[in-house]
Amino acid sequence: MLADSHCHLNYKGLVEDQAAILSRARDRGVTAMLNISTRESEWDAVIATAEREADVWATIGIHPHEADAHSHVDTAKLVERAAHPRVVGIGESGLDYYYDHSDRERQQASFRAHIAACRETGLPLVVHTRDAEEDTAAILADEMGKGAFPGVIHCFTASGDFADKALSLGFYISISGIVTFKNAKELQATAARLPLDRLLVETDAPFLAPVPHRGKTGEPSFVADTAAFLADLRGESLDALTRATAENFHRLFAKTLA
Ligand SMILES: [Zn+2]
Ligand SMILES: [Zn+2]
Repeated sequence: MLADSHCHLNYKGLVEDQAAILSRARDRGVTAMLNISTRESEWDAVIATAEREADVWATIGIHPHEADAHSHVDTAKLVERAAHPRVVGIGESGLDYYYDHSDRERQQASFRAHIAACRETGLPLVVHTRDAEEDTAAILADEMGKGAFPGVIHCFTASGDFADKALSLGFYISISGIVTFKNAKELQATAARLPLDRLLVETDAPFLAPVPHRGKTGEPSFVADTAAFLADLRGESLDALTRATAENFHRLFAKTLA
């Protein structure tokens, strides 16, 4: 068992060769892939892949980069599309103050609309956060006060402090190929101490190919390399790490078991 908790199978670089990419992932033991949506125009395609492939599931959401262009996407619209049986999560949503591609207040409003959709559907939230730790933690804590909701901090690159806050809110933490990069010392220190029962792994493909594939187009098969690196870093067997992260994936995204 090995679950890639975050990939973009309908992005350029993967969509042209989806069948071969899925078969390479299966050859390396990948048994579950979560196909993440980032804008309304791709929802149909992201869901269609999940309808066609038994080991692929989908999310419905608007990336913070796209918040400005999607002010019409409200909680009701997210909830409506999330009713599809292959949609198992809401996102990716959150705050990205590194690129600031959308107005920060719009990003925050969109983030809160996604959280409300989680509360309404019971589906978990896939959080994207970059250079926005303080506001992300504040919004999550504030919204949690209105009613608990599950979720994951995807492609975790934040501080150890933020990891502790996310864990205390009940969140899972997903580690991408960035952890294999030579200069990712702080991330490696955090990843080494995260509780095994809250850990997920992901590729964020087509981005962030891990060592030894750096510079290539990322694909879900590479989650095996990140898992091997993490197992070594944490002093666990590869089997224990892949099994635990896959079990965590199906516990968090429980609709995958329906
Ligand atoms: Zn992201
Ligand atoms: Zn992503």
